[in-house]
Amino acid sequence: MSIRAVRGATTVKENTKEAILFETGYLLKEIMEKNSLKNEDVISIMFTATDDLNTAYPAAAARKIGITNAGLLDYPELKVAGGLKMCIRVLMLTEAIVPQSEIKHVYLNGARVLRTDLLRDENRVAVALDGPAGSGKSTIAKLVAKELGFTYIDTGAMYRSVAFYCIDKDIDYNNELEVISRLDDISITILSTKKEQRYLLNGDDVTDLLRSPEVSEGASKVASYKAVREKLVAIQRECASKQSVIMDGRDIGTNVLPNAEVKVFMDGNVEERAKRRFEELELKGITTTYEEILEDIKKRDYNDSHREYNPLRRAEDAVLLDTTYMSIEEVKDYIVEEIKKYLKEE
Ligand code: C5P
Repeated sequence: MSIRAVRGATTVKENTKEAILFETGYLLKEIMEKNSLKNEDVISIMFTATDDLNTAYPAAAARKIGITNAGLLDYPELKVAGGLKMCIRVLMLTEAIVPQSEIKHVYLNGARVLRTDLLRDENRVAVALDGPAGSGKSTIAKLVAKELGFTYIDTGAMYRSVAFYCIDKDIDYNNELEVISRLDDISITILSTKKEQRYLLNGDDVTDLLRSPEVSEGASKVASYKAVREKLVAIQRECASKQSVIMDGRDIGTNVLPNAEVKVFMDGNVEERAKRRFEELELKGITTTYEEILEDIKKRDYNDSHREYNPLRRAEDAVLLDTTYMSIEEVKDYIVEEIKKYLKEE
């Protein structure tokens, strides 16, 4: 047995003894349960409370769950501009068998916003980011994922992988029956590291081969086939069932994750979107012209929003964000704030 430190925090809705005792007791119980701790394992607990709470009632909260021998200490929380309101934090020292790296810190209610990277299992959050080509979804989704510790899932890359497979194997992607007859031969795996995401097509890393105009066009075509969508949507849902994700695409808020906690639909003037996509491809060394990209985007916008199955559409409960005149930083901050607002209010 070694000494381990467990952190936790929660917020209360009202400054009353009952509410504070209830939420603190609940937080302590969750910490104990999540880390399989017994009352006698607890050595000490330090509490802090924000100055909008009269008192934290630490002894009463600990006794409520049967911790009677631990040393308890209560401090005022340092005042931080923009900090959480009505918040109680704890630092528990315990004896535990597991290493410190396996200790589960617990953040509840509005305090979940303090450690968004820990939002997993039953506390996980899904963010659906939809919009037409070139609206900046993937750039933004990557930044938001990094800032909050979520996993980014680029569903467009999956449709692109199917298109790439067809082109590579000389299958006519305009021929639905032919594409569908080969679907069982296609396996798509996402390899996630902290830094980036790699897409494996039948075990081969195709991530850097998916951005050409030809693959874009093929992706938009194969994405209109019902069987292709069913196969890929199943993989996408599976990814979101384990972790907190920000997933970008066309039908995430309407079809893949209709219960996503936060939904954003990004749009923008088509010329501006074409300009961004052109600059992005230029940087990647892919030779093309602005006019070609503009045509490609117009065609894909049309195909994506007029197809029969899961067309590009804003979910009724999605926030509409026109990014034409917004900087990347502004869009990213806006979405991060939407997610934090959800976490604080829920
Ligand atoms: O987002 P990206 O441009 O990489 O997507 C490529 C194509 O894949 C889109 O034009 C669209 O036809 C299709 N797609 C889709 N549903 C998604 C994501 C992408 O139909 N969820």
